[in-house]
Order: sequence, then C-alpha cells, then structure tokens
Amino acid sequence: MIGIGITIALISFFFVLFTKGKTIFISRGKSGEIRISNILSQLPDNYHIFNDVYINNNGHSSQIDHLIISQYGVFIIETKNYSGDVYGSENAKHWTQYLQGEGYKFLNPIKQNQSHIFAIKNALHISPSNIFPIVVFLNRVELHCSTSSVVLYSGQLYNYISSHKEVLFPKDSVERLTQRLNTIMVQDPEREQNHVRSIRQNAINRELQIANLICPRCQGHLVERQGKYGNFLGCSNYPNCKFTKKL
Ligand SMILES: [Zn+2]
Repeated sequence: MIGIGITIALISFFFVLFTKGKTIFISRGKSGEIRISNILSQLPDNYHIFNDVYINNNGHSSQIDHLIISQYGVFIIETKNYSGDVYGSENAKHWTQYLQGEGYKFLNPIKQNQSHIFAIKNALHISPSNIFPIVVFLNRVELHCSTSSVVLYSGQLYNYISSHKEVLFPKDSVERLTQRLNTIMVQDPEREQNHVRSIRQNAINRELQIANLICPRCQGHLVERQGKYGNFLGCSNYPNCKFTKKL
C-alpha cells in the first residue's frame, strides 16, 4: 500500500515519459515549460521562438520562460504549472493556489513578467507597446482571476498569438532583434546542451501526444476524419483549432 502511495505521489509530482525503454523524469515546472514550447513550436517559421532565456543586461539577469520575436511584436510568456484553484488580481503582491483545502501563496506572475518586459525593452531597444506579456497556466488548473493583463489557459495560447495580425516590425528589423537577442543571451555550454536536448524532447513529446490522440496545439482530443485526400487526424476543437495530421 505504501509503495503504491509513493508511486502515485511520484507520478503526480513528475511528468513521466516512457520512450524507447528509457524513463525520463522531468520536474513539474520543466514539464510545463516543455508543453508550452511544444505548442509554440506549432507556430509558422516566421515566429522566432526562444525557450528558457537567460539575459544579462547592465548587471541584471532575468530568466524568461518563452520569448517570441515576430513581425507582429515580441511576446513574453511566463508559464505556470499548477493544479487546483488559482485566485489572483492585477496588482496583488501574491496569488493563491488552493489545493485540497490548503492555500499556497506564490508571486503574482503578472508582476514577474513586468520585470521581464523592462529587461527586454532595454536590451532590444523597443517600445513597450510592441511587447505583449502573457501569463499562461496549463489546462489542468481552474482560474479565478480578474486582470486586465493577459492570463490564459495553455489551450488558448496558440490562437491568442495568431490573433495578432498587425505588422509592427519590418522583416529586416525582426532579423536584427533576433541577432541582438542572441548576443545578449547568457552563453553557457551546459545551457546550450539543454537547449538542444529540449528541442529533441519537443519532437518526442509532440509524437507522444499525437500517438495518445492529444492535440499538440491546444491539448484537445484528436479524432480520425475522412478527407478528400484520405484519412487524417483532426482536432475536436475545430474550427477554433485547425491542427491536422495525415494518416
Ligand atoms: Zn487542437
């Protein structure tokens, strides 16, 4: 009995991946970031995506979960992987997670992201009006937040980013911003390796999700459909989500 209890506790704390006979344990925070980077990897190629970004600007370092540079602006994403109920407001210092009757305080993620906006605005020399901060929670939580800042479930993320259609940067300045970010990102060989590993992990996760009939774009269910050119998997959230995969 105790053994089973411990196993369940472990599985709930870690996102467990079984791949090619290997078991990979990833901490809960990291597994949330991997899921979000999976969703972002579905965006078209003209969105430049940076995951787990460390920058050093004038002696201040910041860690940003996900950053996207595109013609449509710079998106800065703070990811939270919580379950239970989360209560929060725009200006509170702390937000609260309720889980099985217990309350747990954590820093207001909107405020956390504000310091990232400040760092990126200074480092890339861009106007704050071209920066879109997003706080995203994995679908497993119930949000009770009244905020004017953007706070989303992971299933809404892809559509929210795609809904920005106004071109704010010409193509050559997107290039320039991307190069500039590459030069200020903290260079660390270990980090480089992690980056390569997480790209590989993304591909594995994507395939695993599809194999389990989970939409990699919105985490909805995939269903088999018949089309003009044969059978394919489509998302049950169509037309909100247009993910498809040929069979
Ligand atoms: Zn979908």
